Amino acid sequence: ATEVRLASRPHGEPTPDNFDIVDVEVPSAGEGQMLVRNTWISVDPYMRGRMSSAKSYAAPYEVGKVMHGGALGEVVESKADGFAEGDIVLHGLGWRTHAVLDANQATVVDPDAAPVTAYLGVLGMTGLTAYAGLVDVALQAPGDTVFVSGAAGAVGSVVGQLAKRRGAAKVIGSAGSDDKVRWLVDELGFDAAFNYKHAPVAEQLAAAATDGVDVYFDNVGGDHLEAAIDSLNLHGRIAVCGMISQYNLTEPGAAPRNLAQIIAKRFTMRGFLVADHVDARPRFLAEVAPLVAEGKLKYSETVVDGIRQAPQAFLDLMIGANTGKMLVRL
Ligand code: NDP
Repeated sequence: ATEVRLASRPHGEPTPDNFDIVDVEVPSAGEGQMLVRNTWISVDPYMRGRMSSAKSYAAPYEVGKVMHGGALGEVVESKADGFAEGDIVLHGLGWRTHAVLDANQATVVDPDAAPVTAYLGVLGMTGLTAYAGLVDVALQAPGDTVFVSGAAGAVGSVVGQLAKRRGAAKVIGSAGSDDKVRWLVDELGFDAAFNYKHAPVAEQLAAAATDGVDVYFDNVGGDHLEAAIDSLNLHGRIAVCGMISQYNLTEPGAAPRNLAQIIAKRFTMRGFLVADHVDARPRFLAEVAPLVAEGKLKYSETVVDGIRQAPQAFLDLMIGANTGKMLVRL
């Protein structure tokens, strides 16, 4: 068995040296437990936060210990009620080839209902994040113009398509490559998209959002947030999901400098955590699972092979090597 441990905490951008890849004995399941051979693990931007020691909503990873994260695996030995050999389970003990789980740490998924990787992405945590943020936090209404940053990522790509399905007048996305921009417009049905690396976000957003922005779904923060505030209409809503442009900063970022517009525009800005929205899961699945099954809501996955590549997959995710969900196949 092999596992990835946090070797040291990053200062600024993480590097391969922050990870240790260690071979260990295959663990065995005790009474009431099961042994799972992981087949897929998820790498996610929030893990950058857990690599640092700063107090946040999730406890920091411990140096020298295996990093946790979303994973899918096959039960190879079960001493747990309700789980049988061959079951495919979703759990939170990723970054390792084998995991021993208690029954309450695992959820069986149905591999016939959807490709299993969907449970780590579009029908899993990132899909629910998109749904809850758009519907319950930003309170998107038909006729709104919706802007989403990180639009070609796991969360953003669902936000844009869902917004369109829910009656948005216009959906605008930003992303970090021309290929991603083309994918958003040509494949996912965004009305407009731009590459934020080509010109200032404020300029490109203003050009695309000719009627202003009613909802901004923020995955990026910084100059994206500042640009969105500039383009926001009266009573606009900002759902703050993530601020990935800030995660590696060693000093606080400067933008947004225009927050005073909140007064005249009477806009609302609300942060949220998907963990507070698990009650929305049945609604989310009822709406989104059929769209995915019928191919009306598209999703993409960027797949990297091998547990030893997991650190690099994470580092690459943080600089935009992924289109859609970044996954490691074991
Ligand atoms: P993504 O699949 O969107 O991957 C991250 C993307 O961020 C990269 O592909 C890259 O795309 C983009 N990016 C990296 N650096 C920058 C930068 N400096 N400026 C602009 N874009 C950048 O990840 P997720 O969909 O999993 O997560 C998206 C956001 O949602 C993150 O901020 C994450 O922290 C947050 N999140 C929040 C949750 C919550 O409960 N609040 C739950 C899940 C995610 P590009 O090529 O376009 O630069």
